[in-house]
Amino acid sequence: MTTITLVQGDITRQSADAIVNAANSSLLGGGGVDGAIHRRGGPAILEECRALRASRYGRGLPTGQAVATTAGALDARWVIHTVGPVYSSSEDRSDLLASCYRESLRVADELGARTVAFPAVSTGVYRWPMDDAARIAVETVRGTPTAVEEVRFVLFDDRAYEAFARRTG
Ligand code: ADP
Repeated sequence: MTTITLVQGDITRQSADAIVNAANSSLLGGGGVDGAIHRRGGPAILEECRALRASRYGRGLPTGQAVATTAGALDARWVIHTVGPVYSSSEDRSDLLASCYRESLRVADELGARTVAFPAVSTGVYRWPMDDAARIAVETVRGTPTAVEEVRFVLFDDRAYEAFARRTG
């Protein structure tokens, strides 16, 4: 059984086996969660991301996929980078957002991670409406078979926390 827990705060302050990054497909850093992870995690993460770009992911990490690196100085063993879809009102990209959670859990299982911290993928710069993003995140985690024991959603503000609380409460 996977337990879902909610925490309000900064994901880079969490202690977990794996911390999920809301990355962009370049894997070379960005704003929001991505910027915070690289700032606090230090240069080792970016170094591994560059190596991934030079090998498996020459064209970047596709939307909906996930890949792990070291967590550098973060209090975790791995960072799992996943690329959320940009929200579109004219096209339903929900499957891609669900895929971020599924693929991140698949990578977590490969690594043997038992505790995984997720941000609300796509709800920042990528503009996904928070309530719908929370629904997709929670439904997908509940519907994905995994050996991960705790999925912890780390929500930055009250609004995000309340949206996830409505889906889990
Ligand atoms: P995306 O590009 O996938 O939208 P963002 O990083 O811009 O990713 O935002 C994703 C969500 O993470 C937003 O709800 C944002 O408020 C939140 N967020 C930003 N910084 C942090 C942080 N340090 N810890 C946890 N959540 C964060």
